[in-house]
Amino acid sequence: MNLVILGPQGSGKGTQARLLADSLGLYYFESGDFLREVAKSDPRIDEIVNKRGELLPDDEVFAMISKHLEAKSPNLENFILDGYPRSLKQYTLLKDWLKVMGKKIDHVIYLAINEEESITRITARRTCEKCDRVYNLVTNPPPAPDTCECGGKLIQRQDDTPEVVKKRLEIFKETTKPLIEVVKKDGIILEVNGEQPIDVILKEIIQKIA
Ligand code: AMP
Repeated sequence: MNLVILGPQGSGKGTQARLLADSLGLYYFESGDFLREVAKSDPRIDEIVNKRGELLPDDEVFAMISKHLEAKSPNLENFILDGYPRSLKQYTLLKDWLKVMGKKIDHVIYLAINEEESITRITARRTCEKCDRVYNLVTNPPPAPDTCECGGKLIQRQDDTPEVVKKRLEIFKETTKPLIEVVKKDGIILEVNGEQPIDVILKEIIQKIA
């Protein structure tokens, strides 16, 4: 089964995607993490991803992601994508490519949360410098302040500052929301209230998939 998870920044996509990948045996792909890794050796991508918080061009992202998926997800049959697609063009590129390969997206999970909640959650997000694990000081706190379970130091992402967060939410409204309307028309959307506890959301998604 192939899944996509969508939602505004801070909706808990990463948390749910990891849990779903574990319980359904899916290959988990997070475009943000993938691109932050690429950015380490590419100053242009670093500027766009980490400093400006803007989207990379659709064709460029699709080319990188399709190549990666082909190599990592055997038969393109059991994956969950978090952070891709985020525009109508990215969705169309993915759908058309999968169709050529005789595959498809089975469900698009949409985690809905309001903007205020989104901002509160993102500013409380902390990532481990050592193992990249993500915590939220409010909804998913670390075992000790500023310290990960692995002992690594927790830091705030460069693009989680209030100014950049505001821009990223604008991009979500302008670019990703129109995509959600098209996915609804395609009849594959599963909308879930993302403001519920983590375990309740997971249960609801699994029930809806079944
Ligand atoms: P995220 O961790 O999902 O918030 O993504 C971090 C940043 O990576 C975004 O602000 C973009 O700069 C870039 N990025 C991630 N996914 C995509 C995508 N599907 N298309 C274009 N840029 C992306």
